[in-house]
Amino acid sequence: MNDGVDLHLHSTCSDGVLGPEALATLVADAGVTLFALTDHDTVAGLEAAAQVARRRGIRAIPGIEMSSRWQGRTLHIVGLGIDPAAGAMRRAIEDLAALRRERAEAIAARLEHAGAPGHAALERLRSGTIPTRTHFARALVELGAARDVAAAFSRWLARGRPGDVRTEWPDLGHTLAAINASGGAAVLAHPLRYTLSAGQRRQLVQEFRLAGGAALEVVTGGAAPHQIETALGLALRAGLEGSVGSDCHDPALAWHRPDRLAKLPEAVAPVWHRWDPTSRRALQA
Ligand code: AMP
Ligand code: MN
Ligand code: MN
Ligand code: MN
Repeated sequence: MNDGVDLHLHSTCSDGVLGPEALATLVADAGVTLFALTDHDTVAGLEAAAQVARRRGIRAIPGIEMSSRWQGRTLHIVGLGIDPAAGAMRRAIEDLAALRRERAEAIAARLEHAGAPGHAALERLRSGTIPTRTHFARALVELGAARDVAAAFSRWLARGRPGDVRTEWPDLGHTLAAINASGGAAVLAHPLRYTLSAGQRRQLVQEFRLAGGAALEVVTGGAAPHQIETALGLALRAGLEGSVGSDCHDPALAWHRPDRLAKLPEAVAPVWHRWDPTSRRALQA
């Protein structure tokens, strides 16, 4: 049995395939009793997800997955328990939205230059949605420029491809300050997914904690047991708490389903003790 907790999920407000209501319904049906919708750089879906949670008698924590930067690399920082209306968070979200709008134009131009229908893809992005590379990937598939989303990434959008536009996301200290100023707890998302040496990864985790980070995503969707062990070791060494998140974008991808998540190892304190006092087990040690 897992923890019944999922603190990393995407809806159509960013690059998920389900709307926030449908996603919250799926999560409740999967036996999750505490969840956070964490769309990329937007809080647009939180109210709708919270309404479903209230109806279903489960708890929704307000969340976001913020694009950030450390030593020239893109990082994803999940903010949990944030006040979306706090000034620092609103300003951070406005800045990120502006960066994403500019970046989407640049991606379109670069794709076009490389021979892909970038402008037509940009026109297909729904207004009101935060534009991500995933949206470009889906549009390129619809326009016949790639067989499927995976192929669209590997040909056009993945690291080093034409649509991989370098973006100066706000730096890590700035992101953590915005999350903390809005009353949230910051989680370093999928800590093993960044291209870093073991030494660089330890340095990142240490700096993340010193700059005000609260937890590592020790259990992430699709992680193998040895990866959970590695992430656990990093969290314990740095004195960080642990989080659990499927990073579900599409329930059709079985390994990222909320009901497939492993349990957070007992050795680390769960970040969600803030919102669920019955989960203090690991804190008593
Ligand atoms: P962005 O934040 O606009 O750079 O888009 C990043 C998103 O693209 C991630 O959150 C993933 O959902 C998705 N993504 C990144 N790389 C891949 C890949 N190789 N295949 C499929 N989706 C990917
Ligand atoms: Mn995504
Ligand atoms: Mn991410
Ligand atoms: Mn994510």
